[in-house]
Amino acid sequence: MSLIEGRSGAWETVIGLEVHAQVVSESKLFSGASTAFGGEANAQVSLVDAAMPGMLPVVNEYCVEQAVRTGLGLGAEINPVSVFDRKNYFYPDLPQGYQISQYSQPIVGRGAVEIALEDGTQRTVRILRLHLEQDAGKSLHDRDPRRTWVDLNRAGVALMEIVTEPDMRSPDEAAAFMAKLRTILRYLGTCDGNMQEGSLRADVNVSVRRPGGALGTRCEIKNLNSIRFIRQAAAYEAGRQVEIIEGGGSIEQETRLFDTDRGVTRPMRTKEEEHDYRYFPDPDLLPLELTRDYVDRIAADLPELPDAKKARFVRELGLSDEDAEVLVADRDNAEYFEAVAEGRDAKAAANWVIHDLFGALNRSGLAIGEAPVGAAHLGGLIDLIAAGTISGRIAKDVFQAMFETGRDARSIVEERGLEQVSDTGEIEAVVDGILAEREDMVAEYRSGKTKLLGFFVGQAMKATGGKANPKTVNEILRAKLDS
Ligand code: ADP
Ligand code: MG
Repeated sequence: MSLIEGRSGAWETVIGLEVHAQVVSESKLFSGASTAFGGEANAQVSLVDAAMPGMLPVVNEYCVEQAVRTGLGLGAEINPVSVFDRKNYFYPDLPQGYQISQYSQPIVGRGAVEIALEDGTQRTVRILRLHLEQDAGKSLHDRDPRRTWVDLNRAGVALMEIVTEPDMRSPDEAAAFMAKLRTILRYLGTCDGNMQEGSLRADVNVSVRRPGGALGTRCEIKNLNSIRFIRQAAAYEAGRQVEIIEGGGSIEQETRLFDTDRGVTRPMRTKEEEHDYRYFPDPDLLPLELTRDYVDRIAADLPELPDAKKARFVRELGLSDEDAEVLVADRDNAEYFEAVAEGRDAKAAANWVIHDLFGALNRSGLAIGEAPVGAAHLGGLIDLIAAGTISGRIAKDVFQAMFETGRDARSIVEERGLEQVSDTGEIEAVVDGILAEREDMVAEYRSGKTKLLGFFVGQAMKATGGKANPKTVNEILRAKLDS
């Protein structure tokens, strides 16, 4: 927990999120129109999406399955009966005049997400509900000086709204929750998690209170589309509220916007102006009934999720908590690592993947799927070290060359003659030369300064271009110096 130190004492930040996640599905929630991103405006609009008279919605079963899968992935209750309601409001990008959403009976109920904080502690964020709803279209205000255009490609696309309890206690916790939720959604394949494209966005509810006291009045910051903005907006908002309260004022419940250029939140509308949506069950749609069997079949098909994978990496592969956490944060990374670790020293594999591979990918701006060094090639490099063919030091250079050329380790080692020298005769000759040259230091060593061993090892490694087997070098040096 991180508190805000005000003039009158400490304040605790309380945060709850309402997340909108676009469902991965080729077609929309109630029509067969495409959901592809970036299409020509209004090219992906069916008569249902355009709300032509007499058109009837037909629920897309795949979107229902995706919502159930997400609910199961969040450890949540799946409700056997849920209801689609009409949420009525007027807006140019909403041709129906209402949004089909779920209100009092959502498809998914209570669940929980575990988050790991920087200091290694764990927290549980409770999920209140998840419901299915339609996205709206988009008003384009910047195409014409006098008119607003409307693009309905997004109208009717399936969204999952995921609502948390107000369980987060700092902007960092809100950021950690969002990152974890995104990871889970990506593992499940139910939302692509691309926040920049708007596939995943969050409304952030913030209030402040005395530590452990009653909940304060909250403000809701709309539509944040990056984890960094979530952290910044929550931090600014909490600070703003503390200042108002300490100045003798009180917080009005309101909806605010985050100005990403200035890093501040601004009022958008107050509670009084909020719409009365006149929800009622959509008469065009029957209640959604799910059988136990249907839910069980989806459950049986879930992938191993990040928490389970992390626990297995620690338990079965002996990885540290930190390494396991890094590796499971992305499913592709975890799968790459597992392919490298298969039949090899898992800790060595984790080191190479986390430090060398991720480092090189970061520097070159590549995703794991574009890595010039595939898992099999990296595994081959680790095998060469394990077999004593190359030293760990030389392996770094070989990796660099592999990354630049896409070639395998063995061919590079052979072509450049980088095999480790373990031949004792060859190493003895080098060591003899060094000892003869540095008789002064040999005498110091023998008079008790045994720390000088490291110096001699270094000299021998240098003289062999890093190719000497360090273990053999050590043994030979000790034998000669200690005799
Ligand atoms: P609505 O927006 O429909 O009024 P709720 O009152 O249930 O819905 O709250 C919506 C979101 O606000 C939830 O994510 C919840 O966790 C969060 N929230 C509720 N009360 C507070 C509070 N005092 N401080 C911070 N967040 C809150
Ligand atoms: Mg709300």
